[in-house]
Amino acid sequence: MSTRRVTIFGATGSIGQNTIDLIRRAPTDFTVVALTGARNISQLAKDARELGAELAVTAEPELLSELRAALAGSGVEAAAGSEALIDAAARPADWFMSAIVGAAGLYPGLEALKHGTTLALANKESLVTAGPLLLETARRYGAQILPVDSEHSAVFQALVGEDLSAVERVIITASGGAFRDWPLETIASATVAQAANHPNWNMGTRITIDSASMFNKAMELIETKEFFGIESSAIETIVHPESLIHALVGFNDGALMAHVGPPDMRHAIGYALNYPNRKELPVERLDLAKIGQFTFCEACVIRYPALALARSVMEQGGLAGAAFNAAKEQALDGFIDGQIGFTDMANTVEHVLDQLGGTADLSEMITLENIVQTDQIARRIARDYIAQHGH
Ligand code: NAD
Ligand code: MG
Repeated sequence: MSTRRVTIFGATGSIGQNTIDLIRRAPTDFTVVALTGARNISQLAKDARELGAELAVTAEPELLSELRAALAGSGVEAAAGSEALIDAAARPADWFMSAIVGAAGLYPGLEALKHGTTLALANKESLVTAGPLLLETARRYGAQILPVDSEHSAVFQALVGEDLSAVERVIITASGGAFRDWPLETIASATVAQAANHPNWNMGTRITIDSASMFNKAMELIETKEFFGIESSAIETIVHPESLIHALVGFNDGALMAHVGPPDMRHAIGYALNYPNRKELPVERLDLAKIGQFTFCEACVIRYPALALARSVMEQGGLAGAAFNAAKEQALDGFIDGQIGFTDMANTVEHVLDQLGGTADLSEMITLENIVQTDQIARRIARDYIAQHGH
């Protein structure tokens, strides 16, 4: 196989570093075109040097001189700012990893699709805010999108060789997050440190807090609808504390195909990196006798109000996803900054959806302009709510 030319957006993050780990283990299979990061300049420069990247980009314009200095003599070009991220996406590559956290990840992903190659999508905000636009862009340019979220990679793998019309339901599993077993009345006073401590997965801080609130699962339900084109009523979620079954697909003959594996993102990343081939990956091999049992319990919407909000977003469609994501990001900032409590995050998002729901604002076409506008309006309503209801 000739070497695959790869670019990684969000290379310094949790997904980005796991991607680099796999590339490092197969150096002759890959050539690195560009790596991007934000504030962690020393990591970005170290990886760009070591992997012989053509280009390294920081999202932060004021850090350009620091990046230049860190890359001096290496032959790696340095650039900074959101335009530079788009320029990096405009450089041809065979495989792009979209692993920036937040709505900012959408723009380089859309640009990368124009090469008609492969976009490995970890950035779930892209699908939640702009699913139809992303898929339409991929279709127009003949590009392929491969899901990198563990649940969606699991569904994707269960669907290989299957006819979508035979799918009755998709079950997305949830670990239940850090507060699965907390008494309900104590959750409101949970701290950032408690929310950022995941029982099974080692991930970036924001997604870990989103796991505790189940906003992460809420995003994943919306992602499932958008990516696979499955009706909201056919998408279920269940708490599975071991995080070993990542998703199940139910077919019209009653069969349930489950994807089982250790909680290690290198599986989903590696599957996308080597697709359509499978290659050996450095993930743990499960000892089922030792594990003994898989357990499940219902995902309670009182404990996890984000799940009910996701249903409403899936049913509304249109720009509701963009409003939901923006409100969620703003609420998460408010929680991390100590302005609001843990359970106020869901209240904030609910308030934003109530304010915007049913208005022409959300039924407009899903264009980039409308997404940006909805994002800004939703953030403003969320900020006002946080200012009024915060500590
Ligand atoms: P992270 O916080 O560890 O890393 C985020 C990356 O994005 C870093 O490289 C950072 O420098 C960069 N970044 C941050 N803000 C930016 C901005 N405004 N512009 C450009 N770059 C910016 O996050 P992560 O956990 O690796 O998650 C990345 C994405 O993948 C998220 O969308 C997350 O929901 C999704 N995801 C993560 C996991 C996981 O296991 N970590 C699993 C499934 C999906
Ligand atoms: Mg996931």
